[in-house]
Amino acid sequence: MLNVTEKSAFSKYPQQPHGGKLVDKVVVGQEREEELIRAKQLPTIMVDMEAVITLEMIATGVLSPNEGFMNEADYNSVLTKGRLKNGLIWPAPLSFAPIGNRNKEIIESLSIGDEVTLANENNDPVAILTIEDIFKYDKDHRASHLFGTTDRNHPGVDAIFRRMGDVALGGPIRLLQRVDWGPFEKLRLEPKDTWHTFYEEKKFRSAAGFITGANPLHRGHEYIHKNALEEIDGLLLQPLVEMAKREYTRHEFRMLSYRSVLDTYYPKGRSILAPLRVTYIFAGPRETVLHALIMKNYGCTHALIGRDHAGIGDYYDKYASHSIFDEFKPEELGIDIRLFHEVFYCTRCDSPATVQSCPHDERFRINISGTGIREMLRHGIMPPKEIVRPESARIAIQGVQPKGLDEAGRAISPAGKTLKSIFPYYLERARLGGPKRLQPLTVEELTNLDLEMANLDVRANADRIYRDIFEEYSSVGDTNRSLQPEWVADAREALRGQQQMVIQDLEQKVAMAPLTASDEFMYQDKEEAQRELEVAKQILSDIPKVLTEEELQYRTWNLLPYNRYRGSDEPEAQQDDTEK
Ligand SMILES: [Zn+2]
Repeated sequence: MLNVTEKSAFSKYPQQPHGGKLVDKVVVGQEREEELIRAKQLPTIMVDMEAVITLEMIATGVLSPNEGFMNEADYNSVLTKGRLKNGLIWPAPLSFAPIGNRNKEIIESLSIGDEVTLANENNDPVAILTIEDIFKYDKDHRASHLFGTTDRNHPGVDAIFRRMGDVALGGPIRLLQRVDWGPFEKLRLEPKDTWHTFYEEKKFRSAAGFITGANPLHRGHEYIHKNALEEIDGLLLQPLVEMAKREYTRHEFRMLSYRSVLDTYYPKGRSILAPLRVTYIFAGPRETVLHALIMKNYGCTHALIGRDHAGIGDYYDKYASHSIFDEFKPEELGIDIRLFHEVFYCTRCDSPATVQSCPHDERFRINISGTGIREMLRHGIMPPKEIVRPESARIAIQGVQPKGLDEAGRAISPAGKTLKSIFPYYLERARLGGPKRLQPLTVEELTNLDLEMANLDVRANADRIYRDIFEEYSSVGDTNRSLQPEWVADAREALRGQQQMVIQDLEQKVAMAPLTASDEFMYQDKEEAQRELEVAKQILSDIPKVLTEEELQYRTWNLLPYNRYRGSDEPEAQQDDTEK
């Protein structure tokens, strides 16, 4: 097997790791046995699960070219410029600043050049850090540069103050123990695996990466994937498997719903599913850049970025995860960034679409909100087929946590918020594509019943809108009338016949009507009877005509014989045929 950690190994591939070299700091075999013994004798710092995962990401090359935690020069450069000190793009500081009094004592005893063991919560050595730098840093400074806010409600900001100590240690690491990924161990792929799969095993010429958050696979994702599959050989789908979150669809079920949709709707062998285990400390627009570089380190030539890529709350502009790429030159990033607008389902277009490709308004729209979908699953409702494949929803609904509604019939999000996030027309219109309400509703007054009503309507009618339009067109457009239902022709004929009867009767009435009526309610004068007749005639003209094949002969305007069009009545052409 090819050693992809050798720099030369990449020369024939369409992609290179970020910074040119895939980092490999995983110690194996006999060396590992020896290092484990040595690690027990070194000073030890206890680290939490998030740090353990970061260590594993560094050691397996996910965060190449970083070989460890950043020193002060790289840290400051990354924070203020989004680049390492050598100028290479790197959006997020990799800092190691342990908390706790015990750790603080040990840090105080360390000096540059020392080695220190990093141990997990069971006190097992996970890695050895060689100390290159020890420095203090400012937490507000870090938060404002990284997240653009120092608001503790921002999960990234909160993590800085909650999880990080005052002193940071920088230096390269070596990994002695991998993290057990539990139910995802069987799906786990490291960069060395994907490079091999893409370019040795499958001989891809290109591969697109897609990193996605905590919601079930929906048709907005699929739209982006399928667009990429039109031109790119392979797809690497990496659903984030984040640290414990309380309210979500359990990752196991999310992964299973992915698998069932991939099996059913994606071309075989071109889509690779591998969970990405990350820490939560990177959140914000810069995370998108980090994700693009992670995809690059996994061997992807293209990065697919959705609208609210890994977005959180209302801290950033709607398209902040797109505009951040303006700060960097494409050749510096070294991965082709594909930005996608928010995907919705347009029932008038009868397809998933974005504002880039659909001219219709919200009247016909079903929005694809990941959170809305998750909340609808919590209500026990499979979302409309237009936005989530049933194969995905059926499995995802089994993994919703917490299950169902609380004692008062409430979900995590209020019903109104969920409703508006998916059915944007509902406040203004009772039905999809329907007329305006006399009085618009407010989000606050919407109830679970509204959510059910909207779902019933959309289930019944979403795919009827375009079909009805087609029916109308075909009733006029089909010159082969045997495609038109007879009962429609029969009904139209009956309608016309009945209206003609009304007209005949009214004509007699007009003829008999006096100029001045003796009793304006019992009898009418001629003028009013005449108006009545005109209305009846107008109604007749509004009733569609019954079209028959014979009556449509007039539409054939070009009467040349068939053979003329085939060219088979030309002597030369016939000769050509016989020669073959
Ligand atoms: Zn449309």
